[in-house]
Amino acid sequence: MKGRIQKPWGRLLILAAVTGSLSMLQGCAVRMLPFDDKVVEVEDDDRKEAKKAIDIKPSATPTPTPEPTPTPIPVQPILDEAASFALQYDYDSAIAYLEEQPEYADDLALQTAAKKYRNTKAACTEWKMEDITHVFFHTLIYDTSKAFDGDEDEDGYNQMMTTISEFNGIIQSMYDKGYVMVSLHDIAKVNDDGTMSPGSIRLPPGKKPFVLSQDDVSYYHYMDGDGFASRLVVTDDGSVKCEYIEDDGSVSVGDYDMVPLIDTFVREHPDFSYRGHKGILAMTGYNGVLGYRTDSAYKTRDNLQDNQEEFLRNNPDFDFDREVEEATRVADAMKAEGWEFASHTWGHRNATTSTAEELKEDNKRWEANVKPILGDTDVIIFAFGADISNWQKYDFDNPKFAYYKSRGYNYYCNVDSNRLWVQFTDQAFRMGRRNLDGYRMYYNPEMCEDLFDVDEVWDSSRPTPVPEM
Ligand SMILES: [Zn+2]
Repeated sequence: MKGRIQKPWGRLLILAAVTGSLSMLQGCAVRMLPFDDKVVEVEDDDRKEAKKAIDIKPSATPTPTPEPTPTPIPVQPILDEAASFALQYDYDSAIAYLEEQPEYADDLALQTAAKKYRNTKAACTEWKMEDITHVFFHTLIYDTSKAFDGDEDEDGYNQMMTTISEFNGIIQSMYDKGYVMVSLHDIAKVNDDGTMSPGSIRLPPGKKPFVLSQDDVSYYHYMDGDGFASRLVVTDDGSVKCEYIEDDGSVSVGDYDMVPLIDTFVREHPDFSYRGHKGILAMTGYNGVLGYRTDSAYKTRDNLQDNQEEFLRNNPDFDFDREVEEATRVADAMKAEGWEFASHTWGHRNATTSTAEELKEDNKRWEANVKPILGDTDVIIFAFGADISNWQKYDFDNPKFAYYKSRGYNYYCNVDSNRLWVQFTDQAFRMGRRNLDGYRMYYNPEMCEDLFDVDEVWDSSRPTPVPEM
């Protein structure tokens, strides 16, 4: 089909004009504050204090007295619940939860915990939106021998993709440096009248916010057999995992892409997430979403691409309605786990070179085919990073912005190699995103230094040199 772009790579649009003006801001981002996990200490101290409060035993007396039955700590579950709020930086909820307990008025342990959370909250600093970085990935490579097998797609994967071992190293390093995942909706707020105001992100010393996104989580047909997961699924315990099709056709379930990897990481390190918020997935629609073939073309069978026809030929039992149902279940489970979705345009359109009319037609398809599954979104993450304006602020004279804003989009992300690029008006929040992929790591390792050391995370199974673009 004409105009459809199948692969997420292409020339990334860099807002070169902005580059110079941002060097001043960069100084703010490289501040390395010492890692200081105060929240955990608070919890431990509270437990000690609570124990102390009930471990007072009567002093020995000449006459044997029966050992007093140790008093259980009835408030321990309350302390644990409060600690779970505080671990994700929601001190107000932790304090409110403690104070609303009937035991609070008479219980020293609860009062002590509330006091400590008040102190931790007072020590937090407010983060300016201009000081928040945003990093993104494509679908992660699980089996490098299949992605880097010398076929026609190898160069693109090598440039634009990140392997699972690299991703795990990057995330561990960012966690160790104190990074905490926040939502775009924490950074800026939309008011009832459609205007926007700065949000509020408050973190204790040593912690700093960042936004995480992932593009094109469709498991496109062209990626079949190249070492990527095949789709996301909800397991019996309600968690979201990936399926991977093995060589013998059997299906394995596990952490084969970013979503379950981050879910597992946050389960082990809750303080990596600000108030339970995780990343945002930029979604097209032409091959369906999340590995499900949910576009109406699979139902009508009109204007199918060759690989779509091949898929339907190979899957004679394909059930469109069930596909939509299962994709919706996965999306709902992800949202419950703190994930968000953005439009990446339906057809992976270049928004710079497309006309306003073309973008309107494309967005109608997104609204018809993707929105019913993923739900409402007010975020556009531009395909190819190709923005609807240069560095100049959006205004309603720009027909593309006027259209997108009229359809409820408030947050707009491009691709920018700078650590920080934010532009904010009372109508739109714009943010640059940094690609952490083979190309960036190979050619500009110094641009990753605030996040991780390329030498430590580089996957040696990557062919070198990474091809130039
Ligand atoms: Zn893309």
